[in-house]
Amino acid sequence: MTFSDLSLIEPLLRAVEEKGYDTPTPIQEQAIPPALQGHDLLGCAQTGTGKTAAFTLPILQQLADAPRTRGRRPIRALVLTPTRELAIQIDACCRDYARLTDLRHCVVFGGVSQRPQVEALQRGVDLLVATPGRLLDLVGQGFVSLASVRHFVLDEADRMLDMGFIHDIRRILPLLPAERQTLFFSATMPDDILRLASTMLRDPVHVSVTPPASVVETIGQHIRFAEKAEKKEALIALLTEREEASVLVFSRTKHGADRIARILTRAGIEARAIHGDKSQGARERAMNDFRSGACRVLIATDIAARGIDISELPLVVNYDLPEVAETYVHRIGRTGRAGHEGMAVSFCSEEERPLLDQILKLTGLRLDDDGTLHLAPPAPKPARQPEAPRPKGARQKEARPERAKRPSGGAQPRTANGTRQPAPRRNRRRRRPAADRAQR
Ligand code: AMP
Repeated sequence: MTFSDLSLIEPLLRAVEEKGYDTPTPIQEQAIPPALQGHDLLGCAQTGTGKTAAFTLPILQQLADAPRTRGRRPIRALVLTPTRELAIQIDACCRDYARLTDLRHCVVFGGVSQRPQVEALQRGVDLLVATPGRLLDLVGQGFVSLASVRHFVLDEADRMLDMGFIHDIRRILPLLPAERQTLFFSATMPDDILRLASTMLRDPVHVSVTPPASVVETIGQHIRFAEKAEKKEALIALLTEREEASVLVFSRTKHGADRIARILTRAGIEARAIHGDKSQGARERAMNDFRSGACRVLIATDIAARGIDISELPLVVNYDLPEVAETYVHRIGRTGRAGHEGMAVSFCSEEERPLLDQILKLTGLRLDDDGTLHLAPPAPKPARQPEAPRPKGARQKEARPERAKRPSGGAQPRTANGTRQPAPRRNRRRRRPAADRAQR
């Protein structure tokens, strides 16, 4: 399939071509056609799958196609996202994709002066990318009206809840017109996310890519057993033996990220840390140094890392194993993107063994004696038992996992091509450690 097969308008096709994309990614292939037709979407996709274009392109196209009223432009599309880095990144995608249209967009997020954001809003924007807190501030001050929003995207819904944005989301939803298209994306679909989705979506088309085990196929994964006190040396040894020019190291805590940066710098390895306590300016400087190659190693906490958009990150290191197994999948998803080969090395202490076991359980990976993780061979199929004839359709119904509660008036969920599919995978979900939550 090519982008032209997706019925995109010429200015968007050309912009995509200029970005160097040849073929749509699976989430784009699945999401763009129904989104262009105005359907709501429930999308299960992680960062790195091309999901930003999957929601941005159809919205831009619908905005470009809709007649515009005279006078000041009302905000017709809103993308809500948990972190400022992600907001900036989505806005940059809008800039690239909308380059050949006359659509205007802008981004608002907290932690910086609101004046330039207000000025941009006052010039009129068609599409607004926002983090929840700053959006509510600007609504409260009368600088933003959401009354004309026709397209609403909730991005990284699971992160939103993890970061405690549920109350903000609940305050924003009533400000949006009921008559709108909603595109809901989340990397995982535990029960609380499905419940939230069911309150916001009408007869959504379900699109889903990369169940955790398949993400890892392009990524070489290794575990190195090292006790807490040995990890510094292990990291220095790893960075010395490997040649990758850019390495992202995950630390569970902000304090740990700073400490690792200091240790590496002392060992003569250029490193910077990014996390929620750093100012916006310091984070941007660290990112620029990392992108330009001035610093080889970036140490990030999970939340700070959400906004890092570097498509060919060759090596990811888990200095600590994450508390939640799904986070491991997010982390290593930073490498091996868009078909590139990637490598992920994780340090595991004795204390962290239970966390490793959870990761193996979630991903279905097998740990070899040399520390390599492999996809486990499929379990042999159980011998078929003869069964009594059943009424048509009954068996499939029993086998299907329980669905999200349907929003009132909605039909059964459909896939992008109109067929029915099981509800998305429900991943177990646990509270994030306090150290992570504190990073807002
Ligand atoms: P996202 O999941 O939206 O963060 O995208 C991940 C990365 O894939 C970004 O660097 C995009 O620029 C890139 N990307 C998105 N769509 C495509 C595509 N169709 N072909 C190649 N790269 C893409």
